Amino acid sequence: MNRRHFLSSAATAALAASPVSRLFSRGYRPAADGAFKLLRSNVGYYTNRGGTIGVYLPGGMPEGGAIVDTQFPEQAQALLATLREQGTLTKLGVLANTHHHGDHTGGNGIFAELADTYVCHERAKQNLVDNLAKSEQAGSLPLPSTTFQSGWSTNMPDGKESISLRHFGAAHTGGDAVIHFENANVAHLGDLLFNRRFPYIDPGAGGDILNWAAVMKDVRKAYDKDTLFIFGHAAEGYPVIGTASDIKAFELYLKSLHKYVKKEKRKGTSLEDLQAKTTTIPGAPEWQFGERLRDVNLQAMWDLL
Ligand SMILES: [Zn+2]
Repeated sequence: MNRRHFLSSAATAALAASPVSRLFSRGYRPAADGAFKLLRSNVGYYTNRGGTIGVYLPGGMPEGGAIVDTQFPEQAQALLATLREQGTLTKLGVLANTHHHGDHTGGNGIFAELADTYVCHERAKQNLVDNLAKSEQAGSLPLPSTTFQSGWSTNMPDGKESISLRHFGAAHTGGDAVIHFENANVAHLGDLLFNRRFPYIDPGAGGDILNWAAVMKDVRKAYDKDTLFIFGHAAEGYPVIGTASDIKAFELYLKSLHKYVKKEKRKGTSLEDLQAKTTTIPGAPEWQFGERLRDVNLQAMWDLL
């Protein structure tokens, strides 16, 4: 059985065992092709347009739960409508963002007003403020009420789940957080992991493509073999959930990129020629989705070597 099939079987098994299976077993498809799926212990994820959203439903119901990332306003509205089909949602325990990018925070306005606590890394808040100012949209989105430097955690109001946020250093941006539902043992990686897809990197917001592999190794060691990870994005045909082995594969991509660009630069290859001749990075052939970002990856690494 291949890994992807295994994961979907595991998710199906978890659904069958769950008391809320009736609610979500068909994978809700509301506006704009959005879909909600439960993973385990009342933690699930929502895909539509933008970075994957993580959701905690206390006792299988939305009231008092948690939302991690919000895509865009229209998609956040669609998720809210989906959740409200299942039960009252007048209050959230926690709204958290994995980082500041618009495809993860654009729908914050829909959920922030419901949340007791809205939290992200301090650099992510700064990046959010800077971006809104740059696009002359200051004041158009609510800002986090709570920030942290290295870690933050809280118990959910139902007393059955704890959520912890950790920052492992500069990688995709300077303000990335891994958001862990400890009881369910599900961790949202945000854009720290692009599954088999060339990653976006944001040096202007503190991102560091050279440090990224070391960050992923630390992330892999901080959780365990049973942890299920939610990814911000995946290549077509690949899941937005996975395990530590997917983190290891992404580490290998980042290390291979480093090695390859270093070697070519030493040989005297120009950046232009390097971009023109590269289809995949030697050592990481599974990464082949998204040419534009492949060129951006080559350049980001080139600029640091
Ligand atoms: Zn991002």
